Amino acid sequence: MKIDQFRVDPGHAVELAERSTRSADGFDGDKAAGQQEAVRLIGRLGELQQVLYAGATHKLLIVLQAMDAAGKDGTIRAVFTGVNPQGTRVTSFKRPTDLELAHDYLWRVHQHAPAAGEIAIFNRSHYEDVLVVRVHGLVAEERWKRRYEHIAAFERMLADEGTTIVKLFLHISKEEQAVRFRERLADPTKRWKFRAGDLDERKRWDDYQRAYEAAIEATSTPWAPWYVVPADRNWYRNLVVSQILVDTLEALDLRYPDPETGLDGLKVI
Ligand code: ADP
Repeated sequence: MKIDQFRVDPGHAVELAERSTRSADGFDGDKAAGQQEAVRLIGRLGELQQVLYAGATHKLLIVLQAMDAAGKDGTIRAVFTGVNPQGTRVTSFKRPTDLELAHDYLWRVHQHAPAAGEIAIFNRSHYEDVLVVRVHGLVAEERWKRRYEHIAAFERMLADEGTTIVKLFLHISKEEQAVRFRERLADPTKRWKFRAGDLDERKRWDDYQRAYEAAIEATSTPWAPWYVVPADRNWYRNLVVSQILVDTLEALDLRYPDPETGLDGLKVI
């Protein structure tokens, strides 16, 4: 599967309505084959992470953004089953605390950026500061408008200092969100995920789509590209995400560190 079909080219307009929530390449929906391929890729991701961790030079930052119920949690659970928890960190960015709000909006984010050898996964991220903040008018427009530039510069700095950045927007349809919300309400094991407020956010669906388009358009760069991942079908989403991550890590030419010299001929007694 070619991942460039999901990548947003820098400087290009983004119209989410034009991008499929089911598949991008007319993949005909061979679920069994897709799942099998995802299993292979997820295994490969585990191998690559092992080398990334051992080499301790590269850093990988994965930003996950999506509308409610689009599958951020499910993606993390499924795609990262093969990676070693040592060397991987997930940070979930919730509504900011008073302390966080008393600082600039990147203050809470930067400390969770990956260290050498690490994969950091952001479950929501600094993008909330141009998404929910914009949709709800939590700060004045002249303030959030400047943030696209700050974010691009922040990511540029991380990239210049050795961080590989991949940003994933899990793209679901409004209809699929309704199906998932109904499922959450009906299933006692999923109800805990549902908040009445989710329905208020759903009413602002179009505003969120516009906010996502603006954010993705303004910040998809060669060093921190956005991918719009069709996410109505979980197995397809997992396939696309695992392929994007495997391709990204393979492009880094990761290697195990050289062993100490003089080990040849050593006997362990
Ligand atoms: P999730 O939906 O990610 O599984 P929650 O249901 O706890 O987790 O939702 C987290 C909430 O925190 C979301 O409504 C999100 O918009 C909000 N949030 C995250 N970052 C910010 C921010 N910077 N400003 C305001 N709200 C934020």
